[in-house]
Amino acid sequence: MIVCLHTPTLPFSNDLADVIRIFWGDAEIRVNGSGGDVLVSHTEKTEGRVRFCRIAAEGAFEGLSERSAEISDDPLLEKRFHKRLIKQTLYDVMKQATGVLPPWGSLTGIRPTRLIYEGMSRGLSLEEAAEETRLRFDIRPDKADLLRQIVRVQQEIAPPRMNEVDLYVGIPFCVSRCAYCSFLSGEVGKGKQLQPYVEALEREIAGTLLLIREQGLTPRAFYMGGGTPTSLPPALLNRVLDAAQPFIDRAREVTVEAGRPDTIDESKLLVIRDHGATRISVNPQTMHDKTLERIGRRHTTAQTEAAYALARRLGFRHINMDLIAGLPGENEDMFRQTLIWSRALFPESLTVHTLAIKRSSLLHLWEAQLPDGDMVSRMVEAGRQEAEARGMRPYYLYRQKHMAGNLENVGYALPGHECVYNIDMMEETGHVLAAGAGAISKRVDPAVGRIERAPNVSEISQYIERNEEMLARKRQLWAEKWPGEAGGVSCE
Ligand code: SF4
Repeated sequence: MIVCLHTPTLPFSNDLADVIRIFWGDAEIRVNGSGGDVLVSHTEKTEGRVRFCRIAAEGAFEGLSERSAEISDDPLLEKRFHKRLIKQTLYDVMKQATGVLPPWGSLTGIRPTRLIYEGMSRGLSLEEAAEETRLRFDIRPDKADLLRQIVRVQQEIAPPRMNEVDLYVGIPFCVSRCAYCSFLSGEVGKGKQLQPYVEALEREIAGTLLLIREQGLTPRAFYMGGGTPTSLPPALLNRVLDAAQPFIDRAREVTVEAGRPDTIDESKLLVIRDHGATRISVNPQTMHDKTLERIGRRHTTAQTEAAYALARRLGFRHINMDLIAGLPGENEDMFRQTLIWSRALFPESLTVHTLAIKRSSLLHLWEAQLPDGDMVSRMVEAGRQEAEARGMRPYYLYRQKHMAGNLENVGYALPGHECVYNIDMMEETGHVLAAGAGAISKRVDPAVGRIERAPNVSEISQYIERNEEMLARKRQLWAEKWPGEAGGVSCE
């Protein structure tokens, strides 16, 4: 599908393209271009303090909508309201033209729960905020209900205090590249980069812990992700965790993403356990070996079962499992089989992802074999029912661009097994200091909605070369005192 979008508001053209892609995920959008299957024309005028927006679609699909909104004197609010007006008008047109009712309506953001919190900050109850969000964005009632359930679970968990900080450590290596991956992770290959990378990471972690001490910050959650942390040999894994140990010792939660079952062995799990991990993740994604082969994950279902058995024998009490709905060549029955199979492994938490078809991944090679959005929607619903049947509750959710069926990723957990780090990340309620290639540190003040970020470079050799600069960026992030901050107990 080629769509020509004619708009006088060029700064919002990406936002408008996002709305079109809710309905036609793979559309080629030509802004103010010519030709194509559909022409979408946007015009607007102002009369007094009111802006009138008119959008029409012609060609293979047709639709027309007109909306108006008051102009605000506050430039920030005005920009937000203007964008919302155009997006909602275009959404009306797309709904008319296609007859499709998307599960998340006109919502294109990645953190829908934030809308509920925003409503509650204006004095609405949780129920009222969920209903307001549903109506404003035309969200399907079951999705609005999901948001309500998630916020209710999150309310049981104390949010981070201003002096608390999470520490993220990234290992950007994998043993092979999954077809759906869009991360900038490198394959381990001959392993030449591993040692210099770990040495750089040790320096960055040491400098970060010093910053934490100087700033009087208190450890909250530790998270080691990737890539695949267990693609490191045990000695290097040990060195990274040793470097972070002073933080780990004071953290309330310690997660290590073991990730790929083919990278897990007893020596690595012992290193992870002996450094105090309280939660690991072992991710099969599917129980179908043919699919695993197709998507470039060089492990088998038997290896997943062995990894779970080994982790249980070594005493791990919280194992998270990631599954993906919508993998190429899979149908609803196959996804249900994966869900049933996973029961026997008794994960304490389950993350049901929807496949995201990003252009930077290799997935386009399998495009013809991808299940359609309706089927993926039924898979996601089967995942929800399965989690509920096991006594799990949804506790965090995020959306990405290009998700099959425009759906979502949801983390479920048995009560008391919710991952605090995941909530902090999704809701952006706490500071994160992050070490490693591509890691992003964040300083936040949720009371006033202030968030500042310091990203590390993603390319591995650049990261090793510019290691000191990464630390300097973090120091800069904390260079000035923010109102309302006080010192706390720090890690030694
Ligand atoms: S394990 Fe994760 S990070 Fe590594 S290639 Fe696969 S999807 Fe990408």
